[in-house]
Amino acid sequence: MTQSRIYLDYNATAPLIPEAQDALLDALSLPGNASSVHSEGRAARKLVEGARADVAALVGARAKSVVFTSGATEANATALTPNWFLNGKPLTPTHLIVSAVEHPSALKSPRFAGEMTRQIPVDGQGVIDLAALAQLVAEVGDAGGLPLVAVQLANNETGVIQPVVEAADIVHARGGLMHCDAVQAAGRIPIDIAALQVDTLALSAHKLGGAQGVGALVLAEGRAHPAPLITGGGQEGWRRAGTEPVAAISAFGAAARVALAGLDRMPEIATRRDRLQAELTRLSNQAVVFSSEARRLPNTLALGLPGVSAETAVIAFDLAGVAISSGSACSSGKVAASHVLKAMGVAPDLARSGLRISLGATTSDAELERFVEVWAKVMGKLAMTRAG
Ligand code: PMP
Repeated sequence: MTQSRIYLDYNATAPLIPEAQDALLDALSLPGNASSVHSEGRAARKLVEGARADVAALVGARAKSVVFTSGATEANATALTPNWFLNGKPLTPTHLIVSAVEHPSALKSPRFAGEMTRQIPVDGQGVIDLAALAQLVAEVGDAGGLPLVAVQLANNETGVIQPVVEAADIVHARGGLMHCDAVQAAGRIPIDIAALQVDTLALSAHKLGGAQGVGALVLAEGRAHPAPLITGGGQEGWRRAGTEPVAAISAFGAAARVALAGLDRMPEIATRRDRLQAELTRLSNQAVVFSSEARRLPNTLALGLPGVSAETAVIAFDLAGVAISSGSACSSGKVAASHVLKAMGVAPDLARSGLRISLGATTSDAELERFVEVWAKVMGKLAMTRAG
């Protein structure tokens, strides 16, 4: 009998959940454009607005504050602009300050020259240095500039949860603007946009069990917001032009609803992750768990094994029926050195061995037990190859 595969790469993308699939397929069979005034159009509009309310609820926002985008990459790109507004008046941030561990889509922006971009360093656990942020913000302010700061809520590689509220305090005290990439945190820890005190928040549907190709920029009430990135139509209240992908948006709403309802099960997932961490480090006693001392997402485990190539390990696990990821960023099919581990000061050799295991809400104990058995075999073989 062939055994089913074990998928442990939820931080890369989560499989479509049944509720989202139903919403997607139902909406795909409707003909309407959500901007049309006829019955078909209004039926499509109803789905989009229902989803908007569901996505808003996941982050404690009002429905009208949600702007659907093609994904979090676009949401980040929209926010990282020198063109913002506050109460209808233009605001022009001069400098972009980003954490050194942001996702590549928020690490820099072509709309800020290299010399106008600064990075907030992180400590060995991957947590941003708030004193360094305060200094960077003060330097920009003292020189008559206005800082735009991006700090993610949780890291995709290590799961580290950043002190976003404290960072936002520092930024707003100097009149700056604050964007937060909440892609990995959404559905895994509770999020309230007002409590976070950020101006904007980025979300992605496919990390929640929705479809790929849709996300949202959420605007905090009464705060500044960026100018649209894509113009040429009045969709999304003139904030993002282009026909709304009704089916993908509807599935996003379903996924957000399920994610919100499932938040109270996250402690169970953290327990599973902790048990897995204990098992794997027992089997591989040289393994180094990254960010183990920091506050982490409940589902993420990043670890390195000195001397093991992460790329080789990922392939070996794949052949053994398990999908995990290397800690290194990989968006082109080519594995590059992880800028996250580098920023944490992890030695290049150890960084090259970084593996990321990320659990989902439906990951079972049985799957993890099987994974531990596979780990023992795969790592045993890789160790022999190294010795031989
Ligand atoms: N930010 C983070 C933290 C991510 O993990 C990702 C997805 N890898 C993105 C942004 C980009 O999201 P999307 O795939 O929706 O463009």
